[in-house]
Amino acid sequence: MHELAATERLVELVVQECERNGLREPKRIIIEVGDFTSYTAESLSFYFNLAKKNEPVLKAAELEVRNVAAIAICQKCGEEMSLKGVSSKSCRKCGSGDMVIRAGRDLVLKMIEG
Ligand SMILES: [Zn+2]
Repeated sequence: MHELAATERLVELVVQECERNGLREPKRIIIEVGDFTSYTAESLSFYFNLAKKNEPVLKAAELEVRNVAAIAICQKCGEEMSLKGVSSKSCRKCGSGDMVIRAGRDLVLKMIEG
């Protein structure tokens, strides 16, 4: 159900942005979703399509989901690594578990095309 809450926040934001920019019927909403989030493009689109029924301004809008790679940085040796398909979050170079996620944690509204 994470996606539902995330999509509701997203729709709220999109509606605000449309009002602010005078967009009456945006065609495309582009969002970036990090690989490190648990959101899938399928469920985000599903909830978006449900939510837009309640928002007349979004009736023609399509959601485009772009993936952002999850990147972690080792705090010990500075090694950067992608977390895609990696089960362990320890550094591949020095083995330290002290990894900080630098990208790919968020869902970001990137662009609204009118
Ligand atoms: Zn390391």
